[in-house]
Amino acid sequence: MSQPTIESILNEKRQFPPSEEFSKNARIKSLEEYQALYDQAAANPEQFWEQLAEKELHWFKKWDKVLDWQPPNAKWFVGGQMNISYNCLDRHLTTHRKNKAALIWEGEPGDSRTLTYAQLHREVCQMANVLKDMGVKKGDRVGIYMPMIPEAAVAMLACARIGAAHTVIFGGFSAESLKDRLVDAQAKLVITADGGWRKESIVALKEQVDKALELGASSVEHVLVVKRTGQEIAMTPDRDQWWHELQPTASANCPAEPMDSEDLLFILYTSGTTGKPKGVVHTTAGYNLYTHVTLQWTFDLQETDVYWCTADVGWITGHSYIVYGPLSNGATTVMYEGAPRPSNPGCFWDVIEKYGVTIFYTAPTAIRSFIKMGDQHPNARDLSSLRLLGTVGEPINPEAWIWYAHVIGGDRCPIVDTWWQTETGGFMITPLPGAIATKPGSATRPFPGILAEIVDLDGSPVPANEGGYLVIKHPWPGMMRTVYGDPDRFRRTYWEHIAPKDGHYLYFAGDGARCDEDGYFWVMGRVDDVINVSGHRLGTMEIESALVSHESVAEAAVVGKPDEVRGEAIVAFLSLENGYEPSPELEKALKQHVVNEIGALARPTEIRFTEDLPKTRSGKIMRRLLRNLAAGEEIAGDTSTLQDRSVLDKLRSGG
Ligand code: ATP
Ligand code: MG
Repeated sequence: MSQPTIESILNEKRQFPPSEEFSKNARIKSLEEYQALYDQAAANPEQFWEQLAEKELHWFKKWDKVLDWQPPNAKWFVGGQMNISYNCLDRHLTTHRKNKAALIWEGEPGDSRTLTYAQLHREVCQMANVLKDMGVKKGDRVGIYMPMIPEAAVAMLACARIGAAHTVIFGGFSAESLKDRLVDAQAKLVITADGGWRKESIVALKEQVDKALELGASSVEHVLVVKRTGQEIAMTPDRDQWWHELQPTASANCPAEPMDSEDLLFILYTSGTTGKPKGVVHTTAGYNLYTHVTLQWTFDLQETDVYWCTADVGWITGHSYIVYGPLSNGATTVMYEGAPRPSNPGCFWDVIEKYGVTIFYTAPTAIRSFIKMGDQHPNARDLSSLRLLGTVGEPINPEAWIWYAHVIGGDRCPIVDTWWQTETGGFMITPLPGAIATKPGSATRPFPGILAEIVDLDGSPVPANEGGYLVIKHPWPGMMRTVYGDPDRFRRTYWEHIAPKDGHYLYFAGDGARCDEDGYFWVMGRVDDVINVSGHRLGTMEIESALVSHESVAEAAVVGKPDEVRGEAIVAFLSLENGYEPSPELEKALKQHVVNEIGALARPTEIRFTEDLPKTRSGKIMRRLLRNLAAGEEIAGDTSTLQDRSVLDKLRSGG
């Protein structure tokens, strides 16, 4: 018997079937219906996607071939022509959706704007014409470095409309990170704003762009600047232009450019939880189809829904599920500039109340911070418009899931825990809420057309409930096509860790998981973070979930530390709920709690209390930094994607 790849010790048995009421009105109403779709798609994925491509999207020219698969290079809908901006805008204008709210925007200071499909179309056409006038051509790359304002979506759609690829760089990144990404993409133009609001202060975006250009982003010829915060900024003549000066005279007539299915749509640099950012490449048609269908089914989109995803447009979640997926479906998508902050901890709940949000999609890190801020904030608002909740970004600890379902969802809203990645373009493993009973902590079952499996290093499937590597066995339309400018890195990173099995290439992007006897997937964390205790390989998620299930613990991160006897010892970094103080007694109680919950094997050797954990700018815990700290080593590797450096400094000084 060989050692299991990762051992599972979590014992979570709760199950929540969809209510009859929800299933009755849902797009996919029963497990049988899901299973039929899944089986049909598994038997013939090409046919499954082809039928959806015909039914759901507008094409200028039909494809000749659904899939051309030369591992690891996939081409979808070869020979077809379409434009995602057309699918998100133009086609709705001839329907009842013309004057429907496409984008509802709420600014941090409390200003707001609603753009109907007709209005959004008009602005996108105008910006597209401005970009053309500034010399942008089909095939060029454009950097977008924006706050969460409607113009961020306008900019993306304007690029797509004229066939320029965008690379959105999160507005929190420094000039140095911005420069690296602009250079890698060889961007010709940058769209930015004077600034954005973040926790009541101005993030000086244009200033960072100026610095990035000084630091050597020399491919950039022009900068288009949106006025948002209004402070004095430097404008370089001939190079920089104000959007509000050009917009009034820009023509609102700009037909969408027919794009080949496989034309570059965007490059998005991954958040870099694990190292140097990679330029993930997504192309036009497959991405459009995949985000469209996955959103429609997973969030059970209905015509009257008010859908709100709290991500930033700088992440894949913002691309796929604030902008492209919702607009392609003709939905109403909410965009919020602010974040919960000490002066306004309930701002999210105000937005839900104000706009009657029906679908709410956020991240575990946000949910854990809501828990920490206290139930009084959501409880003081009317959240009865909500009918469905979602989560993404990290494994969600079952206790946080239960809180979310109860306090936010009023025990009425199903939760879709969506497992996916920048690389996958859209949801891969997720409940379809009218069909699949949920289990807290499990992303449940694969989306139809996604052939997911848990395997060992040789690519052989492991038995049920045994941990292993989470792989995808067949290409899907939304998959990344390559690493921009580095096809070798693409092959090395995603297709070579696990041996091809019987001639099938297996996609693997780094997560460990197990599949239970019902075919439910439980993501156990990144395999890089696995802890090896006396030959037992443990995922981080299960130990952390055991800790979080204690009433005193708000957030937990566990890492391994070299140990002569056991190989590695478990070190837990914990932040406590309001009203709890660190003490030796609590430490002892917490260690015992883990033993009771999941066993002596997982007992932390050391507990370190901290106010905050180091996170990426998208809110994910950066365990590799904690690993360095636990071992008493220097912090190694890239820290440019860290949200708040002071967290690390405090941890270093033992606070
Ligand atoms: P990098 O790849 O540069 O290290 P990243 O992996 O954090 O960055 P993303 O593509 O945003 O960048 O995140 C995908 C990862 O997030 C997944 O591989 C997984 O580890 C985690 N993840 C996302 N959603 C879920 C989920 N619902 N359950 C468990 N894990 C999730
Ligand atoms: Mg990743």
